[in-house]
Amino acid sequence: MDKRYKKRFLDLEYAKELYYYDIYPKVVPVGKETAITLEPLGRSFAFVPEETYTVRVCPMGEGMPNEYPFRRNRFAYSVKPDTDGCLRVPFLFFAEQEYYFRIYTSLTPWNHCHSGEPDWPKRLPAEQERMLFELPVYAVEADLQGLYPFKGDTHLHSSDSHGSEPPELVAAYNRKSGLDFVVISEHYRYYPSLDAMDAFRDCPTEMCIVLGEEVHSPKGPDGNSNDLHYVAFGNLWSIDALFGCNNAEMNHWRGVPGTEGRAVCAGETPPEPMPPISTPDEHIAYMTEYAKQFNLPEGVDRYPYAESVWIADMIHKAGGAAVFAHPYWIQDVLQVPPPLTQHILETAGFDALEVFGGAEYYEQNGFQLSQYYQDKGNGLTYAPVGGSDQHRSVGPDMHRIATILFAEANTRAALVEAIRNGKSIAVDYLNPDPLYCGDFRLVRYALFLEKNYFTLHDELCFEEGRAMVDFALGKPGAKEILQLLCGRVQKQREKYFAV
Ligand SMILES: [Zn+2]
Ligand SMILES: [Zn+2]
Repeated sequence: MDKRYKKRFLDLEYAKELYYYDIYPKVVPVGKETAITLEPLGRSFAFVPEETYTVRVCPMGEGMPNEYPFRRNRFAYSVKPDTDGCLRVPFLFFAEQEYYFRIYTSLTPWNHCHSGEPDWPKRLPAEQERMLFELPVYAVEADLQGLYPFKGDTHLHSSDSHGSEPPELVAAYNRKSGLDFVVISEHYRYYPSLDAMDAFRDCPTEMCIVLGEEVHSPKGPDGNSNDLHYVAFGNLWSIDALFGCNNAEMNHWRGVPGTEGRAVCAGETPPEPMPPISTPDEHIAYMTEYAKQFNLPEGVDRYPYAESVWIADMIHKAGGAAVFAHPYWIQDVLQVPPPLTQHILETAGFDALEVFGGAEYYEQNGFQLSQYYQDKGNGLTYAPVGGSDQHRSVGPDMHRIATILFAEANTRAALVEAIRNGKSIAVDYLNPDPLYCGDFRLVRYALFLEKNYFTLHDELCFEEGRAMVDFALGKPGAKEILQLLCGRVQKQREKYFAV
């Protein structure tokens, strides 16, 4: 085994080649010849003009040539640098997988350290040529062409409930950590996500602040109550606000009847308009009747099941994606009885399961991971997402759960569509070696992206995130810095993704 794979795979030793040479595009279409450029980054790494290099292309999944002589695994080209100092190799990528580009030279390394006579590179016999470096490219089939990967967090809290920082700083700190999108999914409240979006409305940023909330329905008498949690992702009106309340404290949490402007996103048209707001008692009476229609298996509780169906439906009518949050959270005991969880996932219409959350005990993420793969094996098609449920956005233990969505653009609508289409990977960075959950094809692709694309992407996000923090704090000059930075992340995507 290559020694690099015994190490943590994102460590600097692996990554250094990314800083010595650039390779682009990094993601290419299957079935189309694409010219790959290899560019030295700095004079220490320059190719020697007029020198001939051997470029071997090694597909990751075609076996070693000696062991699998009848597969397509031997490709070697002799290439001289172009006048701009880059090597260019056209290659027809014939299947979806990673392809190593390995560059060989027959010159010995230049030794800068000797005194006296210059230690000129020497010519080795051709059979002794040495590998200068390798960098990979990934080819994708048609259904992933035209889609970019966007990393984000589908479940975050702020000081508008019992979190630490205001919504706009939650967004900015998460941008610093490399996230392309966030949703401030506040308990009972939609408007903090509007506030986060509004805070950067007149500010150039490439981060997408997605609207949303954590939905909690009103408490009724025993048997007519539901304590399950749901994340509404990208909804254009508030679900929590539908359960309007009569007392001042709950009005503050949910939005006040008559001031629905704080419960609706202006500017985009939802699939259906927001229904009238009810009182908690009216809602509970309505839901008690609504629940009677379901023919349920034994062990599935009628009221919370019915409410789950209704809430998923409301999220869809509001234009969002419905996420079933942390069913294996231990809240004294498991928050949701497993037969109820199972029936909700099978029939209630949720687009995604929050497979990974921020809790570090095994039951939550471990059970949810197992649930996802068991359901996938049984033909269910909901998407896996990672939502940290963080109530604090700074500190060493932050940003350890994420979702990668494959979407046409970093916009609310495109991200919602990605979840609905299952173009999603949940990532758990809680352990030293991250865990990726989702469709096997997407996991393989995501791992390539993590090592070869997000490493570079995150640096641009960090710079933008720092300026977003300053902007949110009202510091002079922050907007001007953001204006200069804006567009770089998309430009980087267009350079690396030729699909
Ligand atoms: Zn929750
Ligand atoms: Zn939460």
